Amino acid sequence: MSVSTSYPISAATARHLNRPVFGHVIDGEVVASLDGETMPVIDPATGDEVGVAALGSAADVDRAVRSARAAFDDGRWRYLAPLEKERRLRRLAALVEESRTLFGESDTIDSGLLRWYTDAMVDFAVGSTEYFAGWPSKIEGTIPPVPSDMVAYQLREPHGVLGLIVPWNGPSAVLAFVAAAISAGNCVVLKPAEQTPMTAVLMAELAAEAGIPNGVLNVVQGAREAGAALVEHPGVDAISFTGSLGAGSAIQAAAAKRAKPVSLELGGKSPFIVFPDADLEAATAAAMMGVWMASGQVCTAGTRVLIHADIHDELVERIVERSRDMRIGSGFDPESQLGPLVSADQLARVQSYVGIGQEEGAELVLGGARHGDVGYFHEPTIFTGVRNDMRIAREEIFGPVMSILRFADEAEAYAIANDSEYGLGAGVWTNDLSLAHRAARALRTGQVWINTYQAGYPSVAYGGVKLSGHGRLQGGPGIDELTHVKSVWIKVGAPL
Ligand code: NAD
Repeated sequence: MSVSTSYPISAATARHLNRPVFGHVIDGEVVASLDGETMPVIDPATGDEVGVAALGSAADVDRAVRSARAAFDDGRWRYLAPLEKERRLRRLAALVEESRTLFGESDTIDSGLLRWYTDAMVDFAVGSTEYFAGWPSKIEGTIPPVPSDMVAYQLREPHGVLGLIVPWNGPSAVLAFVAAAISAGNCVVLKPAEQTPMTAVLMAELAAEAGIPNGVLNVVQGAREAGAALVEHPGVDAISFTGSLGAGSAIQAAAAKRAKPVSLELGGKSPFIVFPDADLEAATAAAMMGVWMASGQVCTAGTRVLIHADIHDELVERIVERSRDMRIGSGFDPESQLGPLVSADQLARVQSYVGIGQEEGAELVLGGARHGDVGYFHEPTIFTGVRNDMRIAREEIFGPVMSILRFADEAEAYAIANDSEYGLGAGVWTNDLSLAHRAARALRTGQVWINTYQAGYPSVAYGGVKLSGHGRLQGGPGIDELTHVKSVWIKVGAPL
């Protein structure tokens, strides 16, 4: 099997790449699909096939759900003492940390994301696992006041078997979702994205090594069919989905047939608003990072850059000049500032939106073309003169395309920002304290970042409103999402 990169990789990653197949993990065993079907694993920097993964069917999903169901129903995990769960989750975090190069390199081969970014995703995964390792002994119930001949208490209980369906733009970061779900006592069937099957197998293997019982984390590789089978399976109690709006709404509709709770983390078209008093140097760097990071394949990408008329031309010039010389290349090249898109489909999608932007009358001031003819690279692309009714201002492109809009005053900034079907993130750049707080209230999004962008921490809730989804990951609200409340009543008789 060819190794995907001319850059050196660790011996552990080379061994991982040499697996005959990136299989499912069911009941602690790495297995092939029952029907033997596979799918290719493609390195987006070269377009080369670097391996094969199992392509799961409904029959494989059924095996995984039975395993998770048994693990939940016999209580091998949920009835384990809270501190013991915590010890094992901490061990899992430590094992992933020890294998950080393997995870980071595998993610770069699989997704094309730059090495610093895949390292940051591993840090996020480890940090989140450490954070959620602290929860099992702290998921408390409450005792509400009731008439004095009764006692009632409310328990927070895990949903049971959780189907976790995820996208490709942070394959190792998915460990954060897994750690949250199992810290709350759930058993999980994870369906990684078909583009990035490599690291989920490692997660499940290290979970077993950390003492997390078989069946608590199962992995079914595959595409939409496997995801759909997971959603529909009667043995699955709840669904947590991160991905596109189209898939998310199909999943919610399918889950409704069995009244399953669903949390949806979907896309965005996040406004990044710069007021005239802002620190323009910091705003320039953040605007660039907000769209070029991961080549724009980030749900919170700040792809609608709203600039006050007084500083519009100056800020545009700064962003364009600094973006012009960005180095495009393999995620393994430490000099690269922009890596490839994940797939040929994603490249074609970005190219089609460049055409749409031009047809709509926006001015293409930078980029606009595919870069090279190997792999799936695209130039950083900037449109100015964008109106908020253009498709490049309304639709999520998920690529390195920045749409710049001009506003005249605060009210117009909020009106443009909120005139979107999405509501994931928003950035505000100002040194006016009152304006900053007004903006935080006015913007209809799940996150507002002021003088920073895309900050996050495992203790802080994350999620969207409107078509960006519902439900929260991370923090206490993330635990609430993964549990339900059971009320217990006891008749004790009238007080003596
Ligand atoms: P996608 O929706 O096509 O796929 C995501 C996952 O869902 C994959 O595992 C896929 O196999 C599965 N899937 C697809 N259709 C399904 C169906 N009908 N039933 C069950 N499973 C199905 O998304 P993508 O193209 O892989 O990822 C890009 C999208 O994800 C973007 O819209 C992006 O904004 C979003 N995203 C959101 C967040 C967030 O936290 N809000 C984070 C990352 C990505």
